[in-house]
Amino acid sequence: MGNDLIQIASAQPCHAVAPGVSAASADVARGRTFYLETFGCQMNVHDSEKVAGVLMARGYRPVDSHQDADIILYNTCSIREKAAQKVFSRLGAFRQGRPGAGKIVGVLGCVAQQEGEVFFERAPQVSLVCGSASYPRLPDLLDQLESGNRRVKGLELDTEGCFETELTRRDNRYRAYLTIIEGCDQRCAFCVVPMTRGPERSRSSAKILEECRRLVDEGYTEIQLLGQIVNAWRDPSPAGWSFADLLARVAEVPGVRRVRFTTSHPRYFTPEIVQAIDSHPTLCDQIHLPVQAGSTTVLERMRRGYSREEYLEKIHCIRKAQRAISLSTDIIVGFCGESEKDFEQTLSLLADVEYDQIFSFKFSPRPDTAALGFFDSVSDEEKGRRLTVVQELQRQIQLRRNQALVGRNLEVLVEGYQPRLGQAVGRTTHNRVLNFPGVPAEVGCYVQVRVTSAGPNSLVGERVTRAQGGAASA
Ligand code: SF4
Repeated sequence: MGNDLIQIASAQPCHAVAPGVSAASADVARGRTFYLETFGCQMNVHDSEKVAGVLMARGYRPVDSHQDADIILYNTCSIREKAAQKVFSRLGAFRQGRPGAGKIVGVLGCVAQQEGEVFFERAPQVSLVCGSASYPRLPDLLDQLESGNRRVKGLELDTEGCFETELTRRDNRYRAYLTIIEGCDQRCAFCVVPMTRGPERSRSSAKILEECRRLVDEGYTEIQLLGQIVNAWRDPSPAGWSFADLLARVAEVPGVRRVRFTTSHPRYFTPEIVQAIDSHPTLCDQIHLPVQAGSTTVLERMRRGYSREEYLEKIHCIRKAQRAISLSTDIIVGFCGESEKDFEQTLSLLADVEYDQIFSFKFSPRPDTAALGFFDSVSDEEKGRRLTVVQELQRQIQLRRNQALVGRNLEVLVEGYQPRLGQAVGRTTHNRVLNFPGVPAEVGCYVQVRVTSAGPNSLVGERVTRAQGGAASA
């Protein structure tokens, strides 16, 4: 997953008091404001949507700047050192005179879980520290803050359940994230997630389908199923569905037009998932399958649970699908002990698979991981060189693959409009961004666009049909 910084802070009207929120709590918060900034993956983005929903249901109003906020929250990411440092740099800015007296500052997410109560010492302006496994306790933690407690924490990892709330304040009006599984039971040597998000907990098929139907009723046409390892989902209810069964059932919900899922682990990737895509056009022609490295030796050291050959068998299975499925992946360069020969195997894997997109990073040792005890043998300068080589190779691959689409008609969901350029921005089933001259009224509609030119990261085109309403069948 990418590590884009995403802010969820655009002004929205206050909700009325929601179910499960006492009138007293809403009165305490009425007229107060919050600023919530999110770092990291889609799981964090969606967690923030739920946190924002809980706050708004209590009467808080979102604002665009921390200066205007009564509560300032950072939902943090610790997957890479650089991401983790961002929260400390935000908090460091406060030491130079901000925020003003009376403001509540909270740290949520993976860095909160990782550092725990240390935050209260390192950053005394912090009043709330809460990891994602404790979000179900958020209303209780907010009660404590509102009654004046200045050291409030939610750091338990032994939770059985998921963060279930109907109060989600979704940031996108057409594409909705839907969590199906939380946590991770793997122990990849480089990854902090099992220590920060806790053990795997799957939601029941009934709850997932119920949320999906509710989303359709609210006007969403694209559903993105989320999980740290989304395809490790197993139905905890007696129905006992597999992940492929769930995909098929979500794809069949009337009104759903597109379904995506992320992130899949190669170990749990089965031919039945490809069969489900083949038989359900609403399942998008897109799979994100992180490989991390092209050398079996490095994969073993990373404890990924598959070899290069086993990974390529999964790719072969995907390439045999009836529809052309676009592939994306994650790459870490410079993992402990990665030799030049190992690195060349990553390059050859990229060249063989020809991904449509990659997310690539330099390895950085993280706290509480096995790799912290390994010798970090590749210098930072060399990691930087390898990253540049990977990204340049991938740029050429993407350019070639995108240019092969020139002249094709593709359906896009129009996600935005840029008035200054008169351009609409859409996304294809393959998750490619396609810009074309459009009108604001088309946002949320499905439109056929002919591709006229292509760059490595996006396509340009012209509309060939009038827009269809978002909820129309595929
Ligand atoms: S599968 Fe590995 S990389 Fe992915 S979240 Fe779990 S431990 Fe981290």
